[in-house]
Amino acid sequence: MVEEKFDAIVIGAGPSGLAAGYTMAKAGMNVIIFERGDYPGSKNVMGGVLYRDPTEELISGFWEEAPVERYIIQQDIWVLDDDSVITMGYQDNKFAKKPYNNFTVLRAKFDRWFAKKAEEAGALLITETVVEDLIYDDKRVVGVQTGRKDGEVKADVVILAEGVNSLIGEQAGLHPKIPPEHLAVAVKEVISLPRETIEARFNLNGDEGKTIELVGKATEGMMGTAFIYTNEKSLSVGVGALLSDMVDANMNPNDLLEELKSHPTVAKLLQGGETKEYLAHLIPEGGYHAIPELYRDGLMVVGDAAMLVNGYHREGSNLAMISGKLAGETAIEAKEAGDFSMDMLSSYKEKLDDSFIMKDMYKYKDASAFFATNPHFFEIYPKLANEALHELLVVDGKPKRQKQRKILEKVKDKRSYFGIAKDLFNAWRVMR
Ligand SMILES: Cc1cc2nc3c(=O)[nH]c(=O)nc-3n(C[C@H](O)[C@H](O)[C@H](O)COP(=O)(O)OP(=O)(O)OC[C@H]3O[C@@H](n4cnc5c(N)ncnc54)[C@H](O)[C@@H]3O)c2cc1C
Repeated sequence: MVEEKFDAIVIGAGPSGLAAGYTMAKAGMNVIIFERGDYPGSKNVMGGVLYRDPTEELISGFWEEAPVERYIIQQDIWVLDDDSVITMGYQDNKFAKKPYNNFTVLRAKFDRWFAKKAEEAGALLITETVVEDLIYDDKRVVGVQTGRKDGEVKADVVILAEGVNSLIGEQAGLHPKIPPEHLAVAVKEVISLPRETIEARFNLNGDEGKTIELVGKATEGMMGTAFIYTNEKSLSVGVGALLSDMVDANMNPNDLLEELKSHPTVAKLLQGGETKEYLAHLIPEGGYHAIPELYRDGLMVVGDAAMLVNGYHREGSNLAMISGKLAGETAIEAKEAGDFSMDMLSSYKEKLDDSFIMKDMYKYKDASAFFATNPHFFEIYPKLANEALHELLVVDGKPKRQKQRKILEKVKDKRSYFGIAKDLFNAWRVMR
């Protein structure tokens, strides 16, 4: 396919692969990036929050030219029940000032732009090409086998940035087949609405944006969240839940999304909108304990393929970009040393350990297992909170003490006080 030998091959042109490719190409390395999609972003899905600071670690001032949709000034959490919702939010007008805090993006546009940057830095991007396997010399990775005719390509180092569905990683024995308890399945629609309608409905001025994370009824009590994010002239609306919960409940993520869209409070926000895109994707939720082998002779693993997602803070793209950057920097050092051995590449893991990535992954190391086995947080508690507020706020001639007693009886009916205390203590323990 390509005769020459490269310094580095990157498998996948998502944020992690592009960050790695960009970093290495900028330092003068000869880099080739393979992407199976028609173009970068064509197969990629995210709710849409892109964080400024980590992206600027790669491209300073990127937001002045990148296709970002809106800068986010308000982040809400909604606890949903059948007919009601408890809303909590944080608005910060400092986030309305340059250089902003974070942005909404549409991946089909953003990844394309980011790929252009990698190409301008000197990387060769080959799209519509699937990497089928790694090529070895004894135990050392020396290249890849693509699905093209004469599709072998050689390099000193391969960076595996294939995303959550990490088939090459599995083939190479870096991790076992990912079990459904370690994956969430999410669907998302991009719903177009006039700019002015979005601004009026979400109380925004100009390019200001808002995010809403929804729990409770939004996932029918399964471990997961839903989201509504404002773009320039559209809304990103989606929902995701643990794959194992979906299978057990015999649920389909699309049914969840349709239910969410028809919730009276949500429906008002979407009214008159037209669905422009429908997307589905997996999210790695295995956490710290499910991180695969991250390096071998001639190989490093980055982003979702390395299970680097912090679902509790809705962070993935930033972990992807920074892990890609750190792998890129390790490859640059390896080239300088003329040594691409496992020993040399182990400094990638050291860099990850020193960064926020592993510190955060470690902090929440037991959270996924805890919440996956304690569904009360997604089912009973959101419902009880909504019902309690309903009882308190209805003025119906009943004395408040009687209402209080009724609420406590309802609570006791669902979970003992001891059970609640235990849940709260354990939740604090895994999240602290
Ligand atoms: C519904 C949803 C909402 C999310 N919301 C957010 C959010 O708001 N903010 C946030 O920061 N993160 C969010 N995330 C997480 C974020 O999208 C990921 O963490 C991030 O995209 C990971 O980047 P990546 O480059 O590792 O993988 P990906 O973006 O998945 O890129 C992998 C690329 O590799 C390509 N590829 C795969 N296999 C091959 C192969 N064999 N050969 C060639 N190419 C291949 C794929 O086509 C793809 O382009 C969300 C995820 C989902 C699914």
